[in-house]
Amino acid sequence: MSSIFTKIVNREIPAYIVAEDENYLAFLDINPLAKAHTLVIPKKEVDYIFDLDDESLAGLWIFAKKVAKAIDKYMEGEAIRTGVAVVGLEVPHAHIHLVPIKNITDIDFTRPKLKFSYEELQNIAEGIKKFVVL
Ligand code: AMP
Repeated sequence: MSSIFTKIVNREIPAYIVAEDENYLAFLDINPLAKAHTLVIPKKEVDYIFDLDDESLAGLWIFAKKVAKAIDKYMEGEAIRTGVAVVGLEVPHAHIHLVPIKNITDIDFTRPKLKFSYEELQNIAEGIKKFVVL
């Protein structure tokens, strides 16, 4: 059975997509720790990020950098920089969390998640997308 993220890649379930190329996809985390919390995934379904082949792993981080730069621009004045985390305990499809942060507690995964409306998430995704340069 394909992962929930493969279903997003295949457009079988919706997501707030912020960037895409042939091999990678970035979309908003549905239960965000912060505004513009974004997940970056390889389209190829591999559970553990460090099981990706070298080329795919390097490409994933380079793609994440481009998305993070777009998040930085979108969140200018609201965050200091984009923090990075790799957890992978919930969804067995490799992904990098990009979380805009002002302080260390902004990237504390034990904190209650934020709630945004459909329209807010749509606007955030569109706002980041405008700054993405692939
Ligand atoms: P983890 O595997 O522990 O790194 O966490 C998986 C992350 O994926 C969590 O932050 C979830 O909120 C997020 N997530 C799960 N399902 C979806 C989905 N359908 N769309 C966007 N984010 C999701």
